[in-house]
Amino acid sequence: MTARVLDGVATATAVKDELRGRVAALRERGVVPGLGTLLVGDDPASASYVRGKHRDCAEVGIASIEATLPAGATEAEVLAAVAALNADPRVTGFLVQLPLPAGLDPREVLEAVDPAKDADGLHPVNLGRLVLGVDGTIASPLPCTPAGIVELLARHGVPLAGAHVVVVGRGLTVGRPLGLLLTRRGIDATVTLCHSHTPDLAARVREADVVVAAVGRPGLIEPSWVRPGAAVLDVGITRGEPLPGSSRAHLLGDVDPGVAEVAGWLSPVPGGVGPMTRVMLLANVVRMAEAALPA
Ligand code: NAP
Repeated sequence: MTARVLDGVATATAVKDELRGRVAALRERGVVPGLGTLLVGDDPASASYVRGKHRDCAEVGIASIEATLPAGATEAEVLAAVAALNADPRVTGFLVQLPLPAGLDPREVLEAVDPAKDADGLHPVNLGRLVLGVDGTIASPLPCTPAGIVELLARHGVPLAGAHVVVVGRGLTVGRPLGLLLTRRGIDATVTLCHSHTPDLAARVREADVVVAAVGRPGLIEPSWVRPGAAVLDVGITRGEPLPGSSRAHLLGDVDPGVAEVAGWLSPVPGGVGPMTRVMLLANVVRMAEAALPA
């Protein structure tokens, strides 16, 4: 068997096309949705992620508001920048790019974000709403990677209702909120959430209709662990040495390449969940702008 590709690039392009139309409709009503970012320090990878987010915004017509602070910024200065973004009427939603330089407490900074402007959906209030299943009417933003995974599966017709999903990794941006999202009414998956203390991980993965690997250990998920025909989503990203002839880091996923011969569906690294994560950030901003429209 050769797995069919869960193509995140093509799917994200389709979602962007839809968002472009929704942004145009908002602009016709005089509303320009805006994404703010706060970048502290000069980490090249973080700077590149932020640039990518603003490029994505330009593609669909979302305005960009960029705040930057030097690496030596104090916590008070960072909190003041967050307060300014909270108050800025051009900003529909914003994010603080992580990781923050050493000495700054990310939890304190993230909790200072107004939950109504939390573009990443990772504020404790919005994670609480995810637990409670509150959505729609208040348009609370969803964490981008879990939302992107669900959208990628839905748009490829991979059923989740009644499926057994084994999520490997219980990190706060992927595994744990994904478990909550998948068990929501209306999505209705049955979830096993695994981590570094899970005994016999191979046996757990073999039980899955859908496997999500969000660990950050290249090749962790072996072909013999995967039930033939299962859908496998590779979320982990590890930066390896550049391949010969390239100057860019070679990105490695958590899934052994041989899994493609066993799985029914497979999302690649790169080009799978990553582009979906990026486009779900835009979707959150558009949804927040739409929710703020007068009835
Ligand atoms: P994280 O917070 O470090 O979580 C990693 C998880 O993996 C932890 O729960 C850890 O278990 C578990 N783990 C470690 N070794 C394991 C093993 N041998 N067997 C089973 N579980 C193991 O990381 P994260 O932020 O969730 O991110 C996970 C990966 O996804 C990273 O590679 C990250 O770069 C990538 N990522 C990709 C995207 C994307 O858009 N594609 C977005 C976000 C993150 P314990 O809890 O027991 O320590």
